[in-house]
Amino acid sequence: HKTSIGSSVIPIVNKLQDIFAPFGDLSKIKLPQVAVIGSQSSGKSSVLEALVGRDFLPRGSDICTRRPLILQLENRSLKNGDSDSDSTSSEWGEFLHLSKKRFYDFSAIRREIQAETDREAGSNKGVSDKPIRLKISSPHVLNITLVDLPGITKVPVGDQPRDIEAKIRGMIMSYIMHETSIILAVTPANTDLATSDALEMAKIADPDGSRTIGVITKLDIMDRGTNACNFLLGKVVPLHLGYIGVVNRSQADINQNRSIAQAFASEENFFRNHPVALTIDMVYHGLSDRCGTSQLAKKLNLILEQHIRTVLPGLKTELNSQMTAVQKDLRIYGEDAESNAGKGVVLLDILKKFCEAFSSLVDGKSHEMSTT
Ligand code: GDP
Ligand code: MG
Repeated sequence: HKTSIGSSVIPIVNKLQDIFAPFGDLSKIKLPQVAVIGSQSSGKSSVLEALVGRDFLPRGSDICTRRPLILQLENRSLKNGDSDSDSTSSEWGEFLHLSKKRFYDFSAIRREIQAETDREAGSNKGVSDKPIRLKISSPHVLNITLVDLPGITKVPVGDQPRDIEAKIRGMIMSYIMHETSIILAVTPANTDLATSDALEMAKIADPDGSRTIGVITKLDIMDRGTNACNFLLGKVVPLHLGYIGVVNRSQADINQNRSIAQAFASEENFFRNHPVALTIDMVYHGLSDRCGTSQLAKKLNLILEQHIRTVLPGLKTELNSQMTAVQKDLRIYGEDAESNAGKGVVLLDILKKFCEAFSSLVDGKSHEMSTT
């Protein structure tokens, strides 16, 4: 699971949640929501799936994602004695529209997404802005929400209305407008980055590019003799958080049911030694920190750590004021120092030290996120 989103942040968030658990709402550290945007078939669903590390999203060369999918990942830490962390029963999905039904089979999740898409948007390429809500519980995920969105299309097909492009743009904008969302702007390498719909929309929602990561997909099917170096280096469209290039499964891979593990292996292999074009190997070699799904996960982790660092002082302030309140209670009940209130102060003091130690731990990691 080293490529999954949040793998390096899970222990930090879990520890914080343990520390803040006695204080109710404080334990709900709200992480930013991550949304993928781009043209139809640019590879958005593939990128999300790779980040989660499981196969469950409809993907394909036609329009597949026809309703927003709000995917809530929920970390369920294993209890002592729970040794089944790798067995399939430790991970499941649940849909809001089918409450109480747990899906352990992830291909059944994909079929349900398709069926529920049809129920709302019909079976003839129709699009609806009514989201599907899916929750995945697993010991291997971070508590974070990811949003898969329909891609931008220009020409109405099937049951799509004449203003399909405006409709989809409006839908996307409603998810990426918020200051707290992180935008993964997906552009396939076999198109012109300068005309990327994803980057164009990201620019509107996030003009200074402080929360947009550029993702270049399909590096494996670029025209011979071309490469994405200038894209990845931000020389075509500069982005503060930079770009990551990835190779996901092709349509042929999907048809042959290639697993996500195989896909990771061949992606790694692609960047290490591309079999047909040695020049590509040389070209991407110097850009290894900008290539691969694991680098994308790493970049996201750094952004999430940065976010935690930003919200921690507020949590500490809140903790301090709760401590002051308990100390006041203690003065009122004076002699009763062995009471619960007395223990509360001791406990809070320990927690405070814990938090301080923790924030210096987080601060100690002085990674450089910006690439410009
Ligand atoms: P979306 O419409 O943006 O969600 O795109 P999908 O994830 O459904 O992918 C669209 C098509 O592109 C599918 O047939 C994928 O197999 C294919 N695809 C996605 N990423 C890559 C890639 O990196 N390389 C290749 N060769 N095909 C890809
Ligand atoms: Mg899709």
